[in-house]
Amino acid sequence: MNIGVLGAGQLGRMLALAGYPLANRFTFLDTTGHPSAGIGDVMIDTDRKHLEAFLEKVDLVTYEFEHLPVSLVQAIEEVRPVYPSSEAIRVCQNRAEEKALFDRLGIPTPAYRLVESAEQLEAAARDLGCPVVAKSVTEGYDGKGQAVIRDPGQAADAWRSIKHPRLIVEAFVDFVREVSIIAVRGRDGQVAFYPMAENQHLDGILRYSVAPMPDLDESVQQVADGYIRALLDALDYVGVLTLELFQTRVGALLANEMAPRVHNSGHWSIDGAVTSQFENHLRAIQGLPLGDTAARMPTCMVNVIGREGEASDILALPDAHLHRYDKSERPGRKLAHINLLAPTHAELLERVRTCAALLPDAPEPRFSFE
Ligand code: AMP
Repeated sequence: MNIGVLGAGQLGRMLALAGYPLANRFTFLDTTGHPSAGIGDVMIDTDRKHLEAFLEKVDLVTYEFEHLPVSLVQAIEEVRPVYPSSEAIRVCQNRAEEKALFDRLGIPTPAYRLVESAEQLEAAARDLGCPVVAKSVTEGYDGKGQAVIRDPGQAADAWRSIKHPRLIVEAFVDFVREVSIIAVRGRDGQVAFYPMAENQHLDGILRYSVAPMPDLDESVQQVADGYIRALLDALDYVGVLTLELFQTRVGALLANEMAPRVHNSGHWSIDGAVTSQFENHLRAIQGLPLGDTAARMPTCMVNVIGREGEASDILALPDAHLHRYDKSERPGRKLAHINLLAPTHAELLERVRTCAALLPDAPEPRFSFE
C-alpha cells in the first residue's frame, strides 16, 4: 500500500516511521516548498503541477495538515479514497464551523460570538465580559492570529493586529488545566479512545503532555469519550481525531478546538501506549483492526522547541526516548520531542524536571496534579 500524505512535516515523518513495519510506502505532497519530513518520496508542488503524478503513485490519501484548500481535497476524493474526508477538513479549518458542530452535538464550549468589524468586536467584548480571546476564524494555529482583550477599549487595536475579516470572540476560561482527548475510528465505525492528556502550553505552543492523568475521574474520561465519539460519528470519520478541551474548577469540560489528524498531544503514545496514534491512524485508514490504546506506564512528552539539548545527556536518562525531526534550530520551531516513562507519576515528574534542565529553552514544568 502506497500512502499519499498531504503535507511533509514531522507528523508525516512519524506516520512513515510507524508505517514501515506494516510494509507501507509513503509519498508526500508538499505545497510549501519547505518539506521537513526527510523520509519517503517527497514531491514538492508549489505550482500545482504535480498533483496528477502524485495521485498516480498512491493508493489512498491522508494528511498531516488541515489548512489545505477544501476544493483540492474534494478533487483528490474524486480519484482516490481520502481519509479523513474533505468534510472533516472543511469543518476543522474554520472555527465558526467547528463551534457550530459542537453546538449541534451538545458539546459545551466557552460562550462565543462571531464578529466582522472592530465595532462588533468591542460590543462582543462588553456583552461576554472581559477578558475575552479574539481569534481569526480561519488560518490560525499555535496561538497565531489571536489576541486577549482585557478591556473593551482594546478592541480596535486587537482588530488591527489580527488583520482578518471575521473573528470568533470567546469568553476567557479560568481553567484548571488544558486537556486533550484523541480517538481513532476505523472504516467499519469501530472506535478506540486514548487516555486523556494534560497539556501545558507556553505562548500558544505545546510544551508538555502527561498521560494518563493521575487524578482524572473515570467519569470525566467517559464524558470526553462521548464528545469525541459524537464528532467521529457525525463526520463519518476515518482515522485519528483530536479534541482539545479546558477543564474547569468544577471538573466540567469545555471544547476549545479539534484537529483532524495525529496531534502533538498524542506523541506520548509512541512509547507510552500499546499502539501509537500514528500506527492506529494507519490501521484505520487501511481498514485494518485498531490496536490497543491503553497506556503502558505514566508518560510525559517533552517538546524540544527552538534549540536542542545534548542528545547524549538526554539518552542517559532512564526510560527516555528521543525523537528528533532532523530540522535546523530556529526560535519557536518544533525540533524534537522526548517521551519519558516512569512507574509512578512522582518519579515521572522528577524525570521531567531533570530532562527540562537539559533543554536550553524549556519552561518550568507545572502540572495541575502536583
Ligand atoms: P487555540 O489556538 O484556540 O488552541 O488557543 C491557543 C491557546 O490559547 C490555548 O491553548 C489556551 O492556552 C489559550 N486559549 C484559547 N482560547 C481560550 C479561552 N477561551 N480561554 C482561555 N484561554 C484560551
